[in-house]
Amino acid sequence: ALTPTRFIWKNGSLTPWENATTHILTHALHYGSAVFEGIRCYETPDGPRVFRLGDHITRMFQSGRVYHIDIPFTHEELSAACKTVLSSNELASAYIRPIAYKGYGSIGVVGLDSPIDVAIAAFPWGAYLGESGLADGIDVCIASWQRMAPNTVPTGLKAAGNYLSSQLISMEAKSRGFAEGIGLGTDGLVSEGAGENLFVVHKGKLFTPPAAASILAGITRDTIITLAKDRGIEVVEQAIPREMLYICDEMFFTGTAAEVTPIRSIDRFSIGSGERPITRQIQDAFFGLFNGQTEDRWGWLDPVKTS
Ligand code: PMP
Repeated sequence: ALTPTRFIWKNGSLTPWENATTHILTHALHYGSAVFEGIRCYETPDGPRVFRLGDHITRMFQSGRVYHIDIPFTHEELSAACKTVLSSNELASAYIRPIAYKGYGSIGVVGLDSPIDVAIAAFPWGAYLGESGLADGIDVCIASWQRMAPNTVPTGLKAAGNYLSSQLISMEAKSRGFAEGIGLGTDGLVSEGAGENLFVVHKGKLFTPPAAASILAGITRDTIITLAKDRGIEVVEQAIPREMLYICDEMFFTGTAAEVTPIRSIDRFSIGSGERPITRQIQDAFFGLFNGQTEDRWGWLDPVKTS
């Protein structure tokens, strides 16, 4: 369940959490016309740091561009607003959810007369797939629902409507007793988890499906590719056939919510020997960014207070 905080930023100012509501005829509620982000702020030894804030805000503008959801604020204004939401709610560690959507004003599909409303909430949120999942790994399955085909609804953007696909995949997985589901592309090749990118360790190398595999090119995915290469681990972005998941040595999910979550079984096949040396190395490198063990040489950690 959500943990309410005090303030939500909406269209330029802070409003009490309970007043941050929208009309029932909001365009996005009917047609999925919203683009959003999920960002984490971590409490580090140097104070609260937002992880890759600029990259998330850039992706939100890119998502909006394709759907003509023209966000009436600048990149800098939205970045500053995220920090305002954190500081006004006195949050040191939080999940931040900015959203821009076609609001109340028309009920036609295109929503020409709908305003673009923008809101940012932040609240505490622990490990998406559970603390025990982070430590011990999770059990996943391939869902019977496939990911969206190219040239239908673009998977590379973070739009509300995409998450109908994620819901089908994840609900099916949970109803079958798995923690999460993986979708294949319409070509039958591995795409990604319902809300996570996927990495496979095979013969000491890291493999992950390419952008063309109906994935969201996640910011955590990019982080892990960068950290792995930095540690001398070879990373290959290539098409992954389903059977590779059953014979690989290690496998893990990445995402802002999921962070780096090991996968211990898929479709009831246990993965590798159960030892996860590379996953552990990647987890240490990733979480090390936030506990001071990994030097941030990429400028990924953004202070909430600029003074
Ligand atoms: N794929 C999907 C479908 C997602 O919803 C997410 C979470 N945003 C990801 C991948 C991971 O992306 P990121 O690392 O940018 O959070």
